[in-house]
Amino acid sequence: MTRKYNFSAGPAMLPQEVLEQAQAEMLDWHGSGMSVMEMSHRGKEYMSIAEAAEADLREVMAIPDNYKVLFLQGGASSQFSAIPLNLLHGKAGADYINTGAWSKKAIAEASRYCAVNVASSSEDTNFSSIYPQESWDTNPDAAYLHYTPNETIGGLEFPWIPETGDVPLVADMSSTILSRPVDVSKFGLIYAGAQKNIGPAGLTIVIVRDDLIGKAADITPTMMDYAVQAKAGSMYNTPPTYAWYLAGLVFKWLQRQGGLEGMAEINKRKADKLYAAIDDSDFYKNPVQKEFRSWMNVPFTLANSELDGEFLKQAAERDLVTLKGHRSVGGMRASIYNAMPEAGVDALIAMMRDFEKEYG
Ligand SMILES: *Cc1c(COP(=O)(O)O)cnc(C)c1O
Repeated sequence: MTRKYNFSAGPAMLPQEVLEQAQAEMLDWHGSGMSVMEMSHRGKEYMSIAEAAEADLREVMAIPDNYKVLFLQGGASSQFSAIPLNLLHGKAGADYINTGAWSKKAIAEASRYCAVNVASSSEDTNFSSIYPQESWDTNPDAAYLHYTPNETIGGLEFPWIPETGDVPLVADMSSTILSRPVDVSKFGLIYAGAQKNIGPAGLTIVIVRDDLIGKAADITPTMMDYAVQAKAGSMYNTPPTYAWYLAGLVFKWLQRQGGLEGMAEINKRKADKLYAAIDDSDFYKNPVQKEFRSWMNVPFTLANSELDGEFLKQAAERDLVTLKGHRSVGGMRASIYNAMPEAGVDALIAMMRDFEKEYG
C-alpha cells in the first residue's frame, strides 16, 4: 500500500494514526459489537464518544465555559445564512471584510437577509494583501463583523485578530482552525467545515458565545437555530455521527502533537520552507504579500504556464497529488494542513527543484 501526499484543499488528508485507529475500531467499537456508524446517537456508547470529542476540542482550543460548541451539518456554506438569521437580533445590517472568494460567498448570502456593509475590501490588490484595521469603514451599529481569517483559494491569511469592541466578531475558520493557538474569547462566533483541518466532510463546528444565542429571527429554520441545537446537544435530529467520532480521534491526535502550540511550530516550519523554496527561485512565484501568506494553502505559479500539465504529471509520479490550483487562480496550490507530514512538504520542494533544473 502506498499513501500518497495529498495536497487537496478539502477534503484533505487525515492523520494516518487516526485512520488506523478508525480501521481497528471499525467492526467492533470497544466491545460494543458494532461500528460507530451503526450506533444510536442517543445510546450511552455514542454519547460517550460525542461528549469526549467536545471535551477534547474545548481542551485543545481552550474554549471558555461561556461558549457553546455545536456539531452540525450543512458545511460552512450553511453558516453563511445561519449567521445573519441568528445574530442580527433585529438590527439592520452587519459588517463584512472582503479578502477573497470565500468572503464574497459569505457576503452574497448575508445580503439576502440584511444590509451588508463591506467595511474593507482588498480586491483592488487582487487579494494579495489585507488593509489595516484603521482604514476600515465599520458601522458602530453593525450586528456583528464577519471576516475570513484564511482565504483557502487565494492563500491569504490574517496574522492578527480584528478588535471590534462591543460588536461581536464572527470568523469563518474553515481552513485555519486548529492550525495554531487562537484566543477564542476575542470572538462572538467561530465556524468551520470539518473537511480541511478537523475530520471528514459532513460535519461543521460552530463555537458561539452564550449571550448571542436565543434571539434568532422568526423565519430561522429550526435546524439552523443555535439555541435549539445547543439545548439538544447538537442532536435536534440525527447528527453526522461518524464524522463527529473521527473528529474526536483527530482532537486526541492533536493532544499527542503537543496541542495547538506544537502544531503551530510544525505548521510554521512547513510553510516557511515551502515559501522559501518559491522565493529562492525565479521559476516559481507566489503573489501574496509576505506578512499575509497562509500557513495552510500555498498557491504558486510556474514561469511558463504551458508547463503546468507536465509539472502535475511529474509530481504525480512521485505520489504528490491534487496540486492543481483553483480554476479562478490557475497554477498550483499546495494545501498543507495539520495532517500533511513535513516529509510531504520536503518531497514537494525536492520535486520542484528537480523540475526547475530540467525546465527552468
Ligand atoms: C471550504 C471552505 C468553505 C466551504 O465549506 P463547505 O463546508 O464546503 O460549505 C467556506 N469557507 C472557507 C474559508 C473554506 O475554506
